[in-house]
Amino acid sequence: MLTARKELFTSLNFLEWQDYCVSQGAKPYRGSQIFSWIYRKYAVSPQEMSDIAKDFREKLEADFDWQLPEIVQRQVSRDGTIKQLLKLSDGTLVECVLMHYDYGKSVCVSSQVGCNMGCSFCASGQLKKQRDLKSGEMMAQVLSFQRDLAMENQRISHIVVMGIGEPFDNYDEVLDFVKNANDDRGLGIGARHITISTCGIVPMIRRFANEPYQFNLAISLHAPTDALRDQIMPVNKAYPLSELMGVLDEYAALSNRRLTFEYILLKGFNDSPDCVRALAKLLRGRNAYVNLIPYNTVDNNGFQTVDYKSALQFYDAVSKAGVKCTLRQKHGEDIDAACGQLRAFVSGEMKA
Ligand code: SAH
Repeated sequence: MLTARKELFTSLNFLEWQDYCVSQGAKPYRGSQIFSWIYRKYAVSPQEMSDIAKDFREKLEADFDWQLPEIVQRQVSRDGTIKQLLKLSDGTLVECVLMHYDYGKSVCVSSQVGCNMGCSFCASGQLKKQRDLKSGEMMAQVLSFQRDLAMENQRISHIVVMGIGEPFDNYDEVLDFVKNANDDRGLGIGARHITISTCGIVPMIRRFANEPYQFNLAISLHAPTDALRDQIMPVNKAYPLSELMGVLDEYAALSNRRLTFEYILLKGFNDSPDCVRALAKLLRGRNAYVNLIPYNTVDNNGFQTVDYKSALQFYDAVSKAGVKCTLRQKHGEDIDAACGQLRAFVSGEMKA
């Protein structure tokens, strides 16, 4: 007989745990207890749940998949950044990264296996999308770090959905995941400590703008004109800059939030004085902020990173042109968190 794959124990949110318990003839507060065991005490087995009756623990054991994805590779960089390669239940592989900052600990989460956006500088797109990740599989990436951290009384304080995949090409699951991570009966990671990064899928940005949540949005801009952006980001052909900026204005008006852009520095491509002017023109009159990011070189795609001096010069010129920006340091360069998929993000905002 074929049996359906059991649901991963990280798939259910607070209410779903309560509903499950009620469906089993138990009181809803059992669900609250289970939720708290998983997200406050980081239990990975019902057997750890000492205030749950033994027969109910066995039922839980039988009804859910309690296996966090196997860590098939783990690299620790000199700066403490940890990159893990996880094997999901169907054998597919995803990466996640833990970064240590002065303000806390941040996990970079993948949202899909592979990616279809086809950005020419990005290593993720070299592997076409195999499938979307479920919210529970994104949560499992967080818990795979949190359990170890808890032994040192540490907790993850930030999440960035900036790993492999385009989060807005998997909108519902990503939103379910971040809402669950935000639930203060569980992990309680503040909405403003959770950032979703998109290459610019306009209808989904519009949908996000109309949601009642305070999660941060980051936009991968990478080029200040359509002529340049078309060359590196196919999404720009579907949603050119005028449409992107239009929907971001809607988002800014609805959320009253500053716009955050990411701009990777590609040597000889988007680092010219013309680009500085075009960027300033694009963002003029908007409450915007640009993270300039030295590109992590990916093999054989023709793009090169700028040297540190040129990065500083670009930063300087952009600031002088009136654009608020920071230049990010790279993390985990010595492990391949610098692979371009899971680049590690930065702490210290360098000021020139
Ligand atoms: N698809 C989403 C999120 C995943 S990529 C997005 O496009 O925003 C996260 C960020 O890393 C994006 O800004 C992406 O453009 C950038 N990136 C991709 N390859 C990189 C590389 N080799 N070096 C630096 N940043 C890179």
